[in-house]
Amino acid sequence: MQIKCPLCSKITTWEENPFKPFCSERCKMIDLGRWAAEDYKIEANMQDEDQDSNSQVMHDPQKEGEDS
Ligand SMILES: [Zn+2]
Repeated sequence: MQIKCPLCSKITTWEENPFKPFCSERCKMIDLGRWAAEDYKIEANMQDEDQDSNSQVMHDPQKEGEDS
């Protein structure tokens, strides 16, 4: 199967390609660095919502206890 590298648009193959979906390690590393930067941004934003998700987690065990 032929695929196009999402970074440089070079045609490469899916099979036997350790760097898929990229054409090379270089493109994969560039994309990883890009995602790492995105994750950092998302994590910073999610800190505001931490308190909400914590209260939801506390309700879940009670529900399971009622079921069983
Ligand atoms: Zn590439």
